[in-house]
Amino acid sequence: MSRLRALSVASEIFPLVKTGGLADVVGALPAALAAEGVEVRTMVPGYPAVMRGLDAATPVHTFNQLHGGPARVLSGRAGALDLLVLEAPHLFSRAGNPYSGPNGADWPDNGARFAALARAAAAVALGDAGSWVPDVVHAHDWQAGLTAAYLHYANRPRPGTVMTVHNLAFQGQYPGELLGAIGLPPHAMGVDGIEYYGSIGYLKAGLALSDRVTTVSPTYAAEVTTSEHGMGLDGVLRARPHGIDGILNGIDTDVWDPRTDATLAATYDSKRVAARATNKRALQRELGLEERPDALLCGVVSRLTWQKGMDLLHELVPWMASQGMQLVVLGSGDARIEQAFKEAARGYPGTMGLVTGYDEGLAHRIQGGSDALLVPSRFEPCGLTQLCALRYGALPVVARVGGLADTVVDANAMALAAKAGTGVQFSPVTRDAFGLALARTLRLWRDRPTWRALQRRAMATDVSWSGPAAQYAALYRAVARPAATPAR
Ligand code: ADP
Repeated sequence: MSRLRALSVASEIFPLVKTGGLADVVGALPAALAAEGVEVRTMVPGYPAVMRGLDAATPVHTFNQLHGGPARVLSGRAGALDLLVLEAPHLFSRAGNPYSGPNGADWPDNGARFAALARAAAAVALGDAGSWVPDVVHAHDWQAGLTAAYLHYANRPRPGTVMTVHNLAFQGQYPGELLGAIGLPPHAMGVDGIEYYGSIGYLKAGLALSDRVTTVSPTYAAEVTTSEHGMGLDGVLRARPHGIDGILNGIDTDVWDPRTDATLAATYDSKRVAARATNKRALQRELGLEERPDALLCGVVSRLTWQKGMDLLHELVPWMASQGMQLVVLGSGDARIEQAFKEAARGYPGTMGLVTGYDEGLAHRIQGGSDALLVPSRFEPCGLTQLCALRYGALPVVARVGGLADTVVDANAMALAAKAGTGVQFSPVTRDAFGLALARTLRLWRDRPTWRALQRRAMATDVSWSGPAAQYAALYRAVARPAATPAR
């Protein structure tokens, strides 16, 4: 099979810059796809953290003016990642996270910032920026959504295009007046183009104008075509000639490996699950909980938001405490939910522990020391934490939605009889159904041989990138168009 070149376009990439699962996926795909004969370069904005992490950078393209200032595309490496970085200090050289300033408010010029990312990606894809020209462009989420638009309206030979939706809730909608400033033609502003409820829809543009659209699980792929979950875009998605492909995410099984994880008090594998008791004790101590081996210790690593069902979990804290369960929460997000958990942690000392903020090491220790990992999301495109939980033998207790439905096998009576089951699912996503699922989890936990068998099966689940990468590679080959311009 000939080697294929793919340009991945995204606003975050692990380990340089991450606000959520998108960064993990974008960071993991290049290595996973290399094994499938695909050479990936990733185009990302030149935030300070990206510029600091970039080695051996050489300029491959210069924009005298790009949305208000000069800019360059730099080709370089960061660790094992091949990057194309859009160096545009007027757009990206700022403190804060990729989307918002230190005060938490979105940057007012996000429309211009991410249009610039897409425009630079299109320059690379059209062969205007150096000799490396992709056969396929893979755009991730709304920040990269206009890439397909720039390619479409350039009316030149172009690579194949794939758009992946990691979360339909974030759509990137900006005023139509921006059109001239971001260099798209007036006729782009139509229902078949980039127009979205009178504005420019960045994600909508990508969904309408890419050769293929994927999302990150088969169940979410079906859900987003319904008015209930389509968030205003279900009509656009239903109109797609090839439908929506659902390709699950994997996790980096070297980073997430309980056999070698240096952040854990004790490493283990599926034959030495009992060693988790050491991690549980260490986690209880770290969070100031009573060191009770007999308490079902539930862990949460999550954005503290409505999407993640964190308000439902908060309502259940008193009941969980009454049942002798313990709860450890790591996350940040919605200020009201954060505050509510802070009060709960004060109200239930020894039973509930909370760490707000972002802590990679603690995320690992929660996976390695909790008995169960809770993911009560109202919607979940794929979800990564339940995949980590499976690998670490913290049984996932999940809402039956999106990728959670696809990756966890509910340990109901039939599944147990068939020696299946890797966690607990519940539906509908309500406090009461969640509570019943936790009660069921407690019963399973008290039946030690059954629990051990569930843990072993969970840990044997393939959560790696190998299957998903093969699916992406097949899709790339289906849409690839050999690069037109510079000779190879
Ligand atoms: P999201 O919707 O936030 O992208 P995912 O489950 O797909 O949810 O991915 C979240 C990723 O971020 C996982 O890798 C998870 O371990 C990590 N994560 C989330 N919150 C925190 C936190 N507070 N500290 C450390 N890691 C976190």
